[in-house]
Amino acid sequence: VTQKLLLGIDIGSTTSKAVLLDATGSLLAKVLRKTGHQPRAVALALREELLAGRDAGADAVSTVATGYGRAMVEFAANTVTEITCHARGVRQLHPEVRTVVDIGGQDSKVIRLDEAGLVQDFAMNDRCAAGTGAFLDVIASRFGLTLDQLAELHSTNPTPLAVSSTCVVFAETEVVSLISQGRELNDVLAGVHRAVARRVATTVKQLGELEPIYFSGGVALNETIRRELELALEKPVTRCREPQFTAAWGAALLARD
Ligand code: ADP
Repeated sequence: VTQKLLLGIDIGSTTSKAVLLDATGSLLAKVLRKTGHQPRAVALALREELLAGRDAGADAVSTVATGYGRAMVEFAANTVTEITCHARGVRQLHPEVRTVVDIGGQDSKVIRLDEAGLVQDFAMNDRCAAGTGAFLDVIASRFGLTLDQLAELHSTNPTPLAVSSTCVVFAETEVVSLISQGRELNDVLAGVHRAVARRVATTVKQLGELEPIYFSGGVALNETIRRELELALEKPVTRCREPQFTAAWGAALLARD
């Protein structure tokens, strides 16, 4: 008998992720690709890459799709919202979690879980780029920095400058003008990180900031944002294991149920 494989696919606005678990929920493989403008093709490519070389007939794979482009995953048996999938994924990796802070490429979400791990409440910001990875991406490319270079900022101990614009387009102008006034790039970048973290922290506070708090999404790879969240909340914020894969992970687990 071939073992059932569980496939979770998260078509994000910026990055698409896929996780393959065995029937017991153990990780077999994971992959990530830019979503670009062809989410259908990306979904197929992710599946192909994960199943390559595995003895898996069509019946042997159960797929759940999530994320902003989940409707584009034509071969999925089911689609589930990102809120449910993130909650499920983070709870699997960190059973004690009560608050998930997820910052992705174009949105941020805060999810509160009850003691049993069920979603109690959530807030999502997908209207304003200032509290998302998009702000960091715009600033990084403006100064020709990779995301890793941007995230390494914490090693230099900068003094964050105020970045007060609430819109990314204006904030970029503000940042450029700080540089032209002779301010240190690192201090300006520190201000950008602080602005993103404070924006998200406001939402966390509104939702009750129940501990322990775990940080997921691609932006959780940025250590400066994690530290700034802790400063703004005055509470520990822990980077989730596999932070960029939590929704895909949750989707795979939901493919079993
Ligand atoms: P989505 O699901 O919305 O597509 P993700 O959760 O995959 O988004 O996060 C994408 C964001 O993660 C990017 O906009 C980028 O800012 C950030 N990111 C990705 N890789 C890194 C990295 N190595 N260091 C810091 N930030 C990163």
